[in-house]
Amino acid sequence: MVIEKGEVGGTCLNWGCIPTKSLIASVEAYETVRRASEFGISVSGEIKPDLSAMVARKDKIVELQVKGIKGLFQGFGVTLISGEGSLLGPGRLSVKRPDGGQEEISASKIIIATGSRPASLPNLTLDGERIISSTEALALTQIPRSILIVGAGVIGCEFAFLFSRLGSQVTMVEMLPRALPNEDEDVSRLLEREVRKRKIDLYANNRVEGLVRMRKEIGRSVWRAGKPSGRRKSWSRWAANSIRKGWGSRD
Ligand SMILES: Cc1cc2nc3c(=O)[nH]c(=O)nc-3n(C[C@H](O)[C@H](O)[C@H](O)COP(=O)(O)OP(=O)(O)OC[C@H]3O[C@@H](n4cnc5c(N)ncnc54)[C@H](O)[C@@H]3O)c2cc1C
Repeated sequence: MVIEKGEVGGTCLNWGCIPTKSLIASVEAYETVRRASEFGISVSGEIKPDLSAMVARKDKIVELQVKGIKGLFQGFGVTLISGEGSLLGPGRLSVKRPDGGQEEISASKIIIATGSRPASLPNLTLDGERIISSTEALALTQIPRSILIVGAGVIGCEFAFLFSRLGSQVTMVEMLPRALPNEDEDVSRLLEREVRKRKIDLYANNRVEGLVRMRKEIGRSVWRAGKPSGRRKSWSRWAANSIRKGWGSRD
């Protein structure tokens, strides 16, 4: 028996690995078509990325995989219960159904695998529109003119390259001294070389402390760790990508 309040496949399938890789595949196809002549192929007409079509393709892939998992559940005799589970006591759970109904379930063994969710930063509350998490970033249908990504971990870097390849002006701010701070320094060096090649602005050792609204755009102050630099700039969007609250995440 599986209790799921969202969609089977969790973050990885619905809002994580699969959707990002699907968009990256689209961006790679776009770049290959732009270089078609190098491959001896002539292409006429304007070549431009259509993010809404890329997102529609991604949604179709996710939908198919979700159906696949549900089919596997049926095939293997796994009962899927839609709703939010909470523990009542040893071996006892309550499930709040999407229609508001409630039921109690008992089981001799219970695995809690509730994953993680995007978290707001102090003074930087996600609003789902201008200040977005990776979940909303995956559903954007227009390429942002500029985007500031808070956190240069794996997810932040993945989005930085994705939007940069689509033509956005990308800035990343990382509070630790280097991009991919949890990886070996060699890996960071290699990544930072690619960041420079792509003309992505990376401010390592900087911490985003707040934001200032500027007309239609959002401005921000970035403060060098410990010592305020007073730097201020504006972006059309912010994405707090690599901050997730939950099991085993850094909050
Ligand atoms: C943008 C992004 C890109 C990523 N890319 C990669 C990648 O390329 N490679 C990689 O290895 N990892 C990647 N990850 C990380 C990966 O998605 C997670 O590590 C993985 O999904 C964690 O799996 P999980 O089962 O622990 O949790 P989740 O996948 O988060 O699953 C938890 C599930 O529990 C459900 N749930 C929570 N509370 C309740 C409740 N009370 N009742 C019922 N259901 C509940 C949620 O709805 C969710 O479906 C990425 C993550 C993100 C956000």
